[in-house]
Amino acid sequence: MKIVAFETKVSIMRKDDPTWRFALGASPVTEGHILRIATEDGVEGFGYASTTAHMGSLTGSLQAELEYLKASVLGRDSDEIESILIGLDRAMRGAPQAKAAIDCALFDLQARRLGVPLCNLFGGKVRSRIPILRILAIKTPAEMAAQARKLVNGGYNYLKIKVHGEVAEDVARVAAIRAEVGEGVHLTIDANQSYTPKDAITALNAMAKYTIDLAEQPVPVEDFAGLALVTRSVPITIEADEGAGSLREIYRLVTERAVDAVSLKIPKLGGLRNTVAAARICEAGEIKYRLGAAVGSRLLAAHGMHMACSLRDVDYACELGEFARLLDDPFEGLEVKDGFIELPQGPGVGVRLAGAKA
Ligand SMILES: [Mg+2]
Repeated sequence: MKIVAFETKVSIMRKDDPTWRFALGASPVTEGHILRIATEDGVEGFGYASTTAHMGSLTGSLQAELEYLKASVLGRDSDEIESILIGLDRAMRGAPQAKAAIDCALFDLQARRLGVPLCNLFGGKVRSRIPILRILAIKTPAEMAAQARKLVNGGYNYLKIKVHGEVAEDVARVAAIRAEVGEGVHLTIDANQSYTPKDAITALNAMAKYTIDLAEQPVPVEDFAGLALVTRSVPITIEADEGAGSLREIYRLVTERAVDAVSLKIPKLGGLRNTVAAARICEAGEIKYRLGAAVGSRLLAAHGMHMACSLRDVDYACELGEFARLLDDPFEGLEVKDGFIELPQGPGVGVRLAGAKA
């Protein structure tokens, strides 16, 4: 069916904690764009374009990319998703966040047209719910421990500790949080590239006694050899995030066994199609993967849930519940309950514009 509408709307969501920060920055709001496409018979599809400066997109640049790519979508047959996606890559190099929104909207529209949950387009569900990991912003050890307690009391069993490359301070954060939550809670670390390889090795070996399941992107993305060195030098699972920004980068990480795990994110990989491809590359190389933080509307998290529930090897908590700390979400129909999110029911992605009929 012919695609006749391609509309974008800026989405600015306030954070419930305006001082939230991590090693690469701080902002009191989360910005993005809601993309709506529709075919001439009135079936709609929605995608979320995530503004992520550390992955190369700003609200204005993303708007310009979406506007530029519009001509590659309008007038096309909605059945020809792969062909449209090939066209996007021919029209413009890069722009993964804009392409992800279009990819997500195309698959949502197709699933709604067929009257099936979105994950049915990717082989169907292999699980129906996902444990959710929540992220602790960088603050003092005592403040982070207090926030960890609040989240554990709220039903979460997986937490991620943001750190910023200061070995002694960061180890103190981990120690305080472990002492507060006790042994039963799963802890991970995200340094967002803030360590040198040697400092990462020192810090992670010191943190290991507090039982850390996984440490994300300890060193700068450019330092591939340093990342591999850290992976070989610590007893903690090392996961690439910023360094796993494309299928080509993931292919290299996997074939050179530079990490133990990869964080898959729909916006950085350019959509659902590429997220599935990335997962298959990891499966071929026996590298773990899961869905990493999708900070933004419930719409983006819902797309992530359909991936997380249909990919074979997702066996660890995913970071799909950060919408719970954002206000003003234009979408509703997805919530975290007792630390889990249930796969949304179809048709399509399974969330709706706030105020629309269920
Ligand atoms: Mg990360």
